[in-house]
Order: sequence, then C-alpha cells, then structure tokens
Amino acid sequence: MIVDAHLDLAHNVVDLGRDLTLPLAELRKCDAHPDVPVVTLPALREGKVGICFATLWVDPRQHTDPQSAYQQALRQLEVYLRWEEQGLVRILRDRADLQRHLALWPEDGITALVILIEGAECIRQPNEVGFWKAQGVRLIGPAWNRTRYAGGTREPGGLSELGFELMRAMRENHLALDFSHMDEQAFWQALEVFDGAVCATHSNPRALLGGEGPPYANRHLSDAMIRAIGQRNGVIGTVLFGFFLEPTWQRGMERVKLEVVGRHMAHTARLVGWDKVGIGSDFDGGFGLHENPEGLDQPGDLQKIGGLVPEPFKQGVLGENWLRWLQTALP
Ligand SMILES: [Zn+2]
Repeated sequence: MIVDAHLDLAHNVVDLGRDLTLPLAELRKCDAHPDVPVVTLPALREGKVGICFATLWVDPRQHTDPQSAYQQALRQLEVYLRWEEQGLVRILRDRADLQRHLALWPEDGITALVILIEGAECIRQPNEVGFWKAQGVRLIGPAWNRTRYAGGTREPGGLSELGFELMRAMRENHLALDFSHMDEQAFWQALEVFDGAVCATHSNPRALLGGEGPPYANRHLSDAMIRAIGQRNGVIGTVLFGFFLEPTWQRGMERVKLEVVGRHMAHTARLVGWDKVGIGSDFDGGFGLHENPEGLDQPGDLQKIGGLVPEPFKQGVLGENWLRWLQTALP
C-alpha cells in the first residue's frame, strides 16, 4: 500500500472545478487548466494509494478574512463527505477505522482519506478546533504563508498568542500537528508546548535547497528541525514539486530527475533513519505533471520511489512508516 501524506483533492474540485471521480485520462481530455492533472480517485485506486492525507486548503489570496476562509473550507469538507457517502472513499477518524480499512482495502482497493487542515485561517478561533474535529479533521498545519496563528512560508515569525491557544486546543482534542510551511521560530515554540503527535506532511531538507539564502528557505526543514521531528517519532513526507527538489528549477524547464527525490530522502534518513521518511507528494497542489519529477505522471508512479530506497526500507517509505505513525496519531 502506498500512503501519500499530502494531496489537495478538494481544492481541485472546489477551486479548479475538476471532477476527480473521472478516470485520469478523461479528466485530462476535458481539463482547461494549464497544470496537467495527475490525480483522480480512480487513479489513486489503480495506483494502490491506500491512504492519503487530504487537505482543506483555502487560498489566502482569494479568501482574505477568516469568515470567508471558514466558508470555503466547509465547501471543501463537503466534497470529502459526499465522496464518503457515495462509497468512493473511506474517511479515517480513529484507529478502529484504520484497522477496518486495512482489512477491507486488499479486497476493494478503496482509498481512505485522513483530513488535514493546511493553513489554519479557516479556524476562526481556537475554540472551533472541537468543531473541526467533529467534522473529521485529524491534523492541522497552522501556517501556509503567515496566518493569525503562526509565521509561515516567506513570512517568518513565531506563534502568536492565538497560536499558543490553538496548540492547547489541538492537544485537548487529540489532533496531530503538521509542521509543513511553519516558520522555524514558530516551529520551536510549538514543539515546546505541544506534546501530541507531530509530523511534516510535505517538506524537504533545506540543506539540499541552497541553505538559508533563498527567499523560500523557510519553506523547508533545517537539519535541526528534521532531527527534532524524528526524536518525537514524526514522519517527514518528501514533497515532489520540482522547485522544492532543485532550487534552480523553474516552470518550463525539463522535469527534475527522479533520483533527486532519492537524494532528499537519503538526507532525511541519514539524520533520523529511514523509518521516519515517507511521501507527501503535493502532486496536485497548484501544479501538475510538468512540475513533478520525471516519470511521476500519476499516483501509480509513486511506486518508482521504492527503487530509490534501500531494499529493507522500501515498503516503509512507500507507506508503512505513515501507517505506523497513524496507529499512534489517530485517536
Ligand atoms: Zn503545502
């Protein structure tokens, strides 16, 4: 089973108007968007992606206030609930759901979703964390760019007062913390006060991306952050966007070679071990086929990543490491 810890499925449906229930080839025929789609539900199923972390991600450039972000996140949530009703996905809400899914999946191949809030602006106040938990959310990444809660990508800063409250509310509700996009200052503050399950669903080592210099440096993890996540038994999902693999890569250039993905994974593994390395493709999040590494055209191609990993750790990286993490992170 492949586990992909980061897909923006509902964003594709709600914001881009894509019908992800179509076979991938059909969607590509009718899709007018410049980024060529790489993910649909049938493609996940055919690709043996047994579980993915599916985001509620609201674009802050389009939804500039918390109320508007909240409404948009609800529209995205509705997509996952409708798919569940139609039997197209299973939503994992607790460990018992996970066990049931693991028993059923070899027979029916249905992909399960773990719902993740990416960029917490849609949580209007920290006391709404319980509401989102009741809707099925199991992880929260407080930042994308900077939010009211935390410094984020290209917008450094620590946790705000509200951010500390959010940490407490997440802890009370047994939700996991996704460090991806969080600025390093907020990261260390959160790590100190939050003693629940942590991970980075889609983040790469900064050391391979030009270090501290580039403007996007804080989108990635310093070696110290990687070690700290590892010490807390967190798994780190390698993100597959070309620019997050090679700092000199730009849209329109030849796709990044697949072995570069292996280099990122090996760097993380050297710091924390292969059992903390996973996939968080972000395959479908604001980019498409041409922005992903060579040969990764659809979910089934994620299998190829196994070839970049030493044999004993292959199944771990493809899925088992995230599965093990979910066993303890889910309530
Ligand atoms: Zn992201």
